[in-house]
Amino acid sequence: MQADSVEPEKSVFLEPLDSEIQTWMSKAFDMALEALENGEVPVGCLMVYNNEIIGKGRNEVNETKNATRHAEMVALDQVLDWCRFREKDPIEVCEQTVLYVTVEPCIMCAAALRLLHIPLVVYGCKNERFGGCGSVLDVSSDHLPHTGTSFKCIAGYRAEEAVEMLETFYKQENPNAPKPKVRKDLISPPDSAVVIQVKPGSQNEGRETIASLS
Ligand SMILES: [Zn+2]
Repeated sequence: MQADSVEPEKSVFLEPLDSEIQTWMSKAFDMALEALENGEVPVGCLMVYNNEIIGKGRNEVNETKNATRHAEMVALDQVLDWCRFREKDPIEVCEQTVLYVTVEPCIMCAAALRLLHIPLVVYGCKNERFGGCGSVLDVSSDHLPHTGTSFKCIAGYRAEEAVEMLETFYKQENPNAPKPKVRKDLISPPDSAVVIQVKPGSQNEGRETIASLS
């Protein structure tokens, strides 16, 4: 046998079972809920290596006033710290690490995942505005020389729930969101006001926006 016909030894990446995916996604959703409760866009994630959570994060953009503090970036920083503390090579660890995230990673985060050689991303709903895994750009699978490795995506886990959380945030939590407009032609004449209620549990609980039509 010729020496060059022997494949170099490489640790095999085993994809998670469906039951494992459900377990980890459930924890990612817990993180998204924590984001929502703290006035952040509700996105949560986990990074799992050898059945161990080595990084987890949720959006911290508003809290830190830093637009790059997406859930994935927070989690990746923890992964790098985890590696440093154990004197492990980050790329070797990331090659065996799965990202579980409630929303499709944006272009920035998808690029970071490529550079660190993350092989698999499991996500909930699509990110129509900034998605880097096919929705806007295909950073995950395009041929992009010198930018790490492409990664596989498994999409659609509890997608509806992820969308509902985002809608809740954008409707009720974002103080910068445009004021709700009420179209008079959609309201039946006898009612003189439309009351937009904020769901219990949010920061603005109990607050009501009243759009007078008279
Ligand atoms: Zn991102």
